[in-house]
Amino acid sequence: MWYEIEHIIVTTAKRLFSGDVLLTKHYEDDVKSVLIPKGLINDRTERLARNICRDVSKGPLIGLCVLKGGYQFFGDLMDCIRTINSNGEQSVQMSVDFIRLKSYEDDQSSGEVKIIGSDDLSSLHGKHVLVVEDIVDTGLTMQKLLTTLQKFKPASVKVASLLVKRTPRSTGYRPDYIGFEIPDEFVVGYALDYNEYFRDLNHICVINDNGKKKYAT
Ligand code: 5GP
Repeated sequence: MWYEIEHIIVTTAKRLFSGDVLLTKHYEDDVKSVLIPKGLINDRTERLARNICRDVSKGPLIGLCVLKGGYQFFGDLMDCIRTINSNGEQSVQMSVDFIRLKSYEDDQSSGEVKIIGSDDLSSLHGKHVLVVEDIVDTGLTMQKLLTTLQKFKPASVKVASLLVKRTPRSTGYRPDYIGFEIPDEFVVGYALDYNEYFRDLNHICVINDNGKKKYAT
């Protein structure tokens, strides 16, 4: 019998140390541990793409990428959906759009969400929208974005987030599609940054004090 996995919970015990996988050389001394290796991200992204295609068979769909942190997950997810479209009997027509928000400085939330770049979102009117985000921490950013998106009267809005943090600061918001649930620590890599550094790190890692000091603003 097959069981549907809703999301994968990553615990502290499952962590790999940086010696267990090949780490981008210039960040070797700046991370505490590898939380999610790239191979596992790939497998999970493929599964999420299948679930999304199954749920949105009606289409067409607009994939709305939240920049910058979401770009890697967005690209990989779109690739998986493209592969499913070309292999399956059914296919989901997709277009893409991008939005840029900013809420963090160093590893602290500024408490405000700024939309610092977006296209004309009136194109979302009447469309099925899939928002693709890197991480949901408190959930405030996504709740604010969803309120903004409703002004453009989309037919439906769903959210796919690669990561969700287990944190006491959570507003209780849960995305429709979750890749991994992770501990309450500041993570970098796979396009997630610390002051614009670490986006080029291959795996998702926990930053250490050395990294925080080295790349502080
Ligand atoms: P929230 O509003 O849910 O508290 O925060 C969401 C945003 O904060 C994310 O889109 C991301 O930009 C940033 N963020 C939250 N936690 C982390 C983290 O552990 N690492 C990185 N790089 N960004 C984070």
